[in-house]
Amino acid sequence: MSFAGEVKRELCKAPLQRKCCALAESCGVLLYAGGFTSGEARIVTESEEFASRLPKLFQKAFGVRFDVLPDESGAGKRIFRITAADKLAAIWQALGYDPAQHFALHVNFALLEEEHCRAAYLRGAFLAGGSVTDPRKRYHLELATAHLQVGRETEALLRDMGFEPKDVARGGNSVTYFKHSENIADLLTLIGAPAAAMEVMAAKVEKSMRNTVNRRVNCDAANLEKSVAASQAQVAALTRLAESGAFQALSADLQEVVIARLLHPELSLSELAETFDPPLTKSCLNHRMRKLLQLAKEDER
Ligand SMILES: [Zn+2]
Repeated sequence: MSFAGEVKRELCKAPLQRKCCALAESCGVLLYAGGFTSGEARIVTESEEFASRLPKLFQKAFGVRFDVLPDESGAGKRIFRITAADKLAAIWQALGYDPAQHFALHVNFALLEEEHCRAAYLRGAFLAGGSVTDPRKRYHLELATAHLQVGRETEALLRDMGFEPKDVARGGNSVTYFKHSENIADLLTLIGAPAAAMEVMAAKVEKSMRNTVNRRVNCDAANLEKSVAASQAQVAALTRLAESGAFQALSADLQEVVIARLLHPELSLSELAETFDPPLTKSCLNHRMRKLLQLAKEDER
């Protein structure tokens, strides 16, 4: 099951208790279902859990039954329809629309005064027209409605609630979307999917740990390359020094360093320092090495 499918399954566990919330959730469903006109209410979903919630939800909110229910085979898209005029009239009235007026859909904010009702409205919108990407891939949650005004008003509502939605028009739909993991997790928690919200936060933690590890690995690789290059230069200089006969004139301390480096060209300077008995400090070895490189340079002239 997709992550969005999992979220919808979790959302459908929210109990249908308050009538006010059932109404608000139904409002979100209808405005985001894409099939709400003066002549019908049509809801299409692939979610099995949403399909079993929907008839109970509409019963509670409007006291109406669907005229057309999905066939029992249960596979693929499930279609719910209401076309009976008296039922549609009951729905319009409950949602506060006047069917005598031009049927331009908007969000009826009178239904959304309480925080629980707002959450229910957004849950309905997500169930009918929402989608969320698996947070292990990327952070993206969106709500898509065919009604431009509804998209704008829902966005204003979300802003009012402290979210930072963005919007885009896509294929005749108004799409409100989120890209921030915190926003997505907060919204999922609010509308009744705290387990999914935890998954978003866990994915974020995992991602940031992976980034830290990658940074460290890259950093180590860069350091290794640097120390290999330095070692190669040292080996070349010390070999010249040894071959020129200057080696015999060096102090025992410096001779030791020449031998150690030629024996262990693969070691970093700090690793090389530890091969001495007793071990040298890195800065002491560094000091001697610089002296040797200086002598090699002078010897070249
Ligand atoms: Zn409520």
